[in-house]
Amino acid sequence: MKTITTISGLETELAAARAAGRSVGLVPTMGALHEGHLSLVKRAVEENDLVVVSIFVNPTQFNDKTDLANYPRTLEADCRLLEAAGAAIAFAPEAETMYPEPDTRRFSYPPVDAVMEGIRRPGHFNGVCQIVSKLFALVKPRTAYFGEKDYQQVAVVKAMVADQGFDIDIRTCPIVREASGLARSSRNTLLTDEEREQAARIWQTLDESRRFAATHSVEETRSYVTETLNEVAVLRVEYYEIVDGDTLQAVDSWDAATSIVGCVAVFCGSRPVRLIDNVKYK
Ligand code: AMP
Repeated sequence: MKTITTISGLETELAAARAAGRSVGLVPTMGALHEGHLSLVKRAVEENDLVVVSIFVNPTQFNDKTDLANYPRTLEADCRLLEAAGAAIAFAPEAETMYPEPDTRRFSYPPVDAVMEGIRRPGHFNGVCQIVSKLFALVKPRTAYFGEKDYQQVAVVKAMVADQGFDIDIRTCPIVREASGLARSSRNTLLTDEEREQAARIWQTLDESRRFAATHSVEETRSYVTETLNEVAVLRVEYYEIVDGDTLQAVDSWDAATSIVGCVAVFCGSRPVRLIDNVKYK
């Protein structure tokens, strides 16, 4: 595997691959890699001749400077994991490489970016679209891989791809969880052992809520999840929304859409660490 930090280095490598007719898959990440990321990489390796994994903690998608400063960075360990998973290229640029000058482009994809994370993290999806569109233009992959853990992000990226006319197949991969059920996240390493144990209640409650939903309304289910999680001392729910899985707009009945998903953001512990997860009702 090659670790590349410059755009020209990446372009040279990719031009050679393309000249040889090799298909390219891209997995964009912010590093501090775990089994969730590696599931995307492994699938990409199965489905492409050459896989590029970008590792870049993208400053423009952080609306909270402390979150950006605290974000875990483990490049050496990441590269070892990527090599073992079969990636051909780890692209790990500096911020100045991706943003030689400020990116003033504005991306707006209502309704999918106008709810949930879009409201609580102003500018977040704009930053995601800035970096993902730069990576797409640079790597020109045939396929790109995203995790369902960031459910809303997938919808925003698909809207951006359609809007910008990228000829790229967006493939989504299921959420990988710890044995406790907690969704794997780079941010889990910021939790204490006690917090990590308690954070498992997030998925346990979402999972339980599927049984609850069979005999209760959407609003009752929403309240059930919010109240159950808020009863856990180290957790504080920022939002729990039950939405149409395609438009991401809140639904008020289980018949309102063919696909219905519950999306949660929870603050955990004293730091606090912000965790997200989601569950499919139908
Ligand atoms: P991040 O490094 O957090 O930006 O994540 C990079 C990609 O990995 C995104 O598409 C995420 O949705 C995906 N991802 C992160 N955690 C998981 C997980 N636990 N299961 C599946 N995919 C994940």
